[in-house]
This record gives sequence, structure tokens and C-alpha cells, in this order.
Amino acid sequence: MRLAILSDIHANLAALEAVLAEIDGDEFDEIWCLGDVVGYGAEPDACAQLVSERASLCLVGNHDLAVLGALDISSFSPAAAEAVRWTREVATPETLEFLERLEPADISHEVALYHASPRDPVWEYVLWPDQAAECIRMQDARVSLVGHSHVALFFALPEDGASAGGPEARGAQAGAGTRLELDRGRWLINPGSVGQPRDGDPRAAWLELDTDAWAATYRRVEYEIDRAAEAIAATDLPEHLARRLYVGQ
Ligand code: ZN
Repeated sequence: MRLAILSDIHANLAALEAVLAEIDGDEFDEIWCLGDVVGYGAEPDACAQLVSERASLCLVGNHDLAVLGALDISSFSPAAAEAVRWTREVATPETLEFLERLEPADISHEVALYHASPRDPVWEYVLWPDQAAECIRMQDARVSLVGHSHVALFFALPEDGASAGGPEARGAQAGAGTRLELDRGRWLINPGSVGQPRDGDPRAAWLELDTDAWAATYRRVEYEIDRAAEAIAATDLPEHLARRLYVGQ
């Protein structure tokens, strides 16, 4: 299957539309989304509607759960908590019903999906090789996809590194065009964030995944950041949430 993997859209409609336009210019069997459709950005309803129409599979993320009132937001940053409260006020019943149907993990496919990590699908940020190795050893699938950190990166263990006490995972941040050969080894892969990248590249991130050829390619697409920023400025959302989009942080 040829899959387009999206994550952490965060109510950024301009970014989501740019990514979907790229996907539509190519041939993909399915679009999968790893969660956090809303939160931070100004267009939660339009993003939820587009994702519900276009993605054949979508997880729920911690921000989505917070908007649903299903997660304590005391550990959220002030701006994130403010965005949760704002999104709760404006979201339509359709958006909330869509998010309510979603789960934070899906292990029903050959590739496993988790919003955050295999051992904690809602909260854990997988950023370090020793931590990634522990997570990879806990996943049943050989290849798993995670979002949540908003950083495009990957970790890999050799097939024989699956036992406890084995090596640290090899890994790196992955810039645009980075291609992974996934035919052997055990992998944990983050496509980066569509709507709020935090790896210093402000372009919207997504991932091509081919499960026949067992290869993945990291993609970045420019989008109208001004449009997303102006949409935020027109609301009561903290203006910092608009500024950070320009620097990819
Ligand atoms: Zn997120």
C-alpha cells in the first residue's frame, strides 16, 4: 500500500490544504492521520471535516482529548491550555462527535500507529535513542508510526536488538527528502507535524510510506503561513501561537 501519513494538524487549515494538494498530485491508496487534529490553530472545524472526509484512519491526540474534556490540562503550557478552552467554545457538535469516535492507537494493521508512543499512546514524547529502543522493544509491529513531538525523526533497531538490554536505537531528525529503507530492522517513525512544526523548518511536514517496497520518504511543503497566522490573530488565541509558525518552533 502507498500511504500518506499526516500528524499534528492542530487546526491549521492552510497547512492541511497544502499537504492534501501535494497528496492529490500523486497516487496514494490511503491517508492516515496520527492525531491532534485540533488545538493551537484557529480552524478546528474545517480541519476536522477535511480529515474525516479524506483520512481512512485517524487517531485521537492529547489536544483532541483535552478539547473533549477527557484529559486533565493542568500540565499543558498556558498557551496550549488557552487554545483548548477556546477550541471547546467554538467547536461544532460535528467536530466533537468526530473526535469522540477516535482512539489514540491502532494496532490492527501491519504498521502500528500511536499518537505519542507504543508504551504511552497519549503522552510520551519519543526523542532520545535509549528511550526509543525501549519503545521499539514494546511494539509488536516491526514498524510503528508516532506523532506528538512535532519533530520529523526516526529510530531503528536491528532485528536482533529486540531483546531487553540490547543496543540503543540508531536515529536522527529527518529533513525533506530523507528516504528510509525499511525492509529490515525494527522502526519507530515520526512524520513531523502538518500544522505546527517544531524542528526549525516551518514548512508543513508529512510522510510517504510504501509498505510493498518498505520505504518511506519525508516530505515538506510550503504553505501560506500568513493565512494561518491571520486566522489566529482574528480570535482570542494567544498571538504567540501565530508567531511560532514562522520559525517552526
Ligand atoms: Zn500535537
